[in-house]
Amino acid sequence: MKKEEFLSLSKAFRERMQVEIETLPEDEWGSDWMSTDAIATCHTEGCSASEMHLRVSVAEPLDGVYKVLCGMCSRAIHDVDPMFEDDEDFRLPTRYPDGNSWVVET
Ligand SMILES: [Zn+2]
Repeated sequence: MKKEEFLSLSKAFRERMQVEIETLPEDEWGSDWMSTDAIATCHTEGCSASEMHLRVSVAEPLDGVYKVLCGMCSRAIHDVDPMFEDDEDFRLPTRYPDGNSWVVET
């Protein structure tokens, strides 16, 4: 997938979800939730999965911050590569604009 195609699908999904949240009962939200295949790499020192490239399916976040936990050390992974065919350096945002993570990091 190309980066612009993904960004367009992502935007459309969030807009549709916003409408569903405003108009449908909660148990009917997101019946076909968008997700993206990516390569996640944990960089935690001492983690047995550190530097391994793990194939993951990441749920589209409504707040724009993608959430992946390492299965070995249970820490947030901030290196999530969606493997766009036209932008190999792009990483999914895994922190809020203020730099904070979505989990408390120790
Ligand atoms: Zn880890």
